[in-house]
Amino acid sequence: MSVARPCLFCAPAPMTRPSCASRGPGRQTPRITHDKNDPALPQKTSNTIETLDCMQASEASNNFQRAIQAMFHTLKQAMQIVKWRQLSIATERCSLCNFPVNLRLSGNEIGVRCPRCRASAITQSLVETLQACVANLAQKDTYELSSSGPLVAYLKSHSRSLTLSEYFDDVSPGSVSISGIPCEDVQQLTFRDASFDLCTCTEVFEHVADDLKGFSEICRVLRPGGFFVFTVPLSSSDVTTERTAFRDGKRINILPVEYHRDRWRGPCVFCFRNYGNDILERVVASGFRKAEFFLPQRKLFGFARRVIVAEKSR
Ligand SMILES: [Zn+2]
Repeated sequence: MSVARPCLFCAPAPMTRPSCASRGPGRQTPRITHDKNDPALPQKTSNTIETLDCMQASEASNNFQRAIQAMFHTLKQAMQIVKWRQLSIATERCSLCNFPVNLRLSGNEIGVRCPRCRASAITQSLVETLQACVANLAQKDTYELSSSGPLVAYLKSHSRSLTLSEYFDDVSPGSVSISGIPCEDVQQLTFRDASFDLCTCTEVFEHVADDLKGFSEICRVLRPGGFFVFTVPLSSSDVTTERTAFRDGKRINILPVEYHRDRWRGPCVFCFRNYGNDILERVVASGFRKAEFFLPQRKLFGFARRVIVAEKSR
C-alpha cells in the first residue's frame, strides 16, 4: 500500500529564493545595514533627489507586484485543496506571524493553514514549542534541515544565524546542489562538533535509515545545553514500528512500502518506520540528556502536533 501525504503548499511561492540556502558553517553572509547618516553614503543633492524618488517609486511598484503575485500563488494553491463543506475559520493566532485567525481548507492536516504566512499545523506547533521551551532564540545559532517555507522564514528573522540544508540523493554531503542548496546527510553531518545552539526539523527522521545515528549526529553538532526541537508523524502506540529490517546484509521491507511527499522528490520519499512514544527513549539513547513531548495549547482544528524537545547535557 502506498500512502502519499499531499503537501501542495510546500512549493515555494514565485519570486521567493533560498536566500539563506547558500549559508554554511563558516560561510555566513555578512549582515548589510544601511545608515542614512553614514557620511560614506552619497548625500542627497537637488540633482539626485528626483532620481532617488523615481528609484524608490520603482522599488515600491516592484514590491507591490511581488506581493500581488505571492497572494495569487497562495490563493491558487488554496483553491487546489479546498473542500468547501469543510472550510472553516478559527480565532487562533498564528504562532509565526501573529495573524488572528487560522483556516481549515479541508478535513486533513495539510488543510490547516495560516492565511498570511501559509504555516501549517505542524509548523505552528513547532514554533509554539520554540517560544515556550527555548529562551533567547535571538541569541541562537540555528540549523534547520530544510531550505524554504514559513519555518525557514521565521527562523531567519528570529535566530542569530541560520544554516540550512536539504538531502539530495545525487549530491555529496557537504557539497552544494545545482540549485545552490547545501546537501547534508543527517547520518554523517559535515559540521564541526558544537557548531549550533539549536537544531530543528519537521517530518524528517521517519525517512532516515539509521535514525539513531542521525540523532547522535544532531547531538554532536549541538553545543552543551543545546536544543533539538522536531516533529515526526507519531502514533498513539508505545512502540515504534520498523517497516524494514536487515537480513543477510540486505535491507528488506517487512511491511507494505509507505511513501511520503516532499517538495523536492514528490510523493516518493520512503518511510522506514512509524514512531511511537518510545521515540523519547531512542533520542536519549543517542546521547541527549533528556527528551520530552510538548503539546501546544493551540487546537488547530484538532491537528496540533506533539513536538519532541531534546536537550544536550551542559
Ligand atoms: Zn502566519
